[in-house]
Amino acid sequence: MPDIRRRRETDNRMTDVFTKEKRSRIMAAVKGKDTSIELVVRKRLHRMGFRHRLDNGHLPGNPDLTFRSPKIAVFVNGCFWHGHSCKRGSRIPKTNKDYWLKKIERTVERDRRNRRTLESSGWRVCVVWECDMERGIDAIINQLQKKP
Ligand SMILES: [Zn+2]
Repeated sequence: MPDIRRRRETDNRMTDVFTKEKRSRIMAAVKGKDTSIELVVRKRLHRMGFRHRLDNGHLPGNPDLTFRSPKIAVFVNGCFWHGHSCKRGSRIPKTNKDYWLKKIERTVERDRRNRRTLESSGWRVCVVWECDMERGIDAIINQLQKKP
């Protein structure tokens, strides 16, 4: 009997964590900023013992996180701003549609260029999409666990 109760408490706690993450993801979407998801990604990797470096301003595209060994550059992208091919990413405002389309197109092109430049100097590039944070973080962890 006590065992069952303990298990239920653990389950509740897990549900709570999930809700909190989901909430911050929604907040990030509402504000149209990458900052909140970026923080979640950063905290999660930090908790797993992966220490990133902040001084990466000189790298193309200013990656949100970088790791030196192996060389991994992480971009945390909002789906709307970076033109992701998901539901959220393809929702373009009805007013000033042309303006938004052009703006996003330029961002996508710039992202592509930065990725190529980074890869040509030996960086692995990981992108975490706002809509697919879990899988994005898993991909980074996989890369980090590989030998350089
Ligand atoms: Zn997306």
